[in-house]
Amino acid sequence: MKIQVFEIPQEGINLELEETPYLDNIKVTKPFRAILHIEKKGLEVFIKGIVSGEIELQCSRCLKEFKMPIKTTVEISYHPLEELKKEELIELKSDEMEVDFYRDGVIDTENIIRDQIFLSIPMKPLCSEECKGICPLCGVNLNEENCYCSSREIDPRLAILQTLLRRIKTNG
Ligand SMILES: [Zn+2]
Ligand SMILES: [Zn+2]
Repeated sequence: MKIQVFEIPQEGINLELEETPYLDNIKVTKPFRAILHIEKKGLEVFIKGIVSGEIELQCSRCLKEFKMPIKTTVEISYHPLEELKKEELIELKSDEMEVDFYRDGVIDTENIIRDQIFLSIPMKPLCSEECKGICPLCGVNLNEENCYCSSREIDPRLAILQTLLRRIKTNG
């Protein structure tokens, strides 16, 4: 939804909307809901609220797709893009709020949702904290199947230990 900054009333406005933002390489599995409170002070716009939905990611360990619910709080102060040239202004306002810019008097809520999604994606997504990953030798997903690679292929360091143990046994 596109919000015209000049249309925001002085007393502020509450918005509740549902959107499915377009994202490169990421599937949105549940439309995103945003509950936003929008206020304006001069040309500065404050947006506070909650964004929630669900996306599909690939597990960095087992490479399987999994669904990740997202729920984040939004707190952004928007400035007209023209202000970007006067950088001192922005430095002054670096409190807890995120700072962003709008262009041509319009704020697109789809961009807000998209930003929140990107901020929520972990560097190394995991389908579960306990994900066992895939076997580097046979490629089996160890969450779904067991393989016997680890018992067959013995680490060379362990192999030395084993021969030592065998020797001790035969000598003893
Ligand atoms: Zn996994
Ligand atoms: Zn294996």
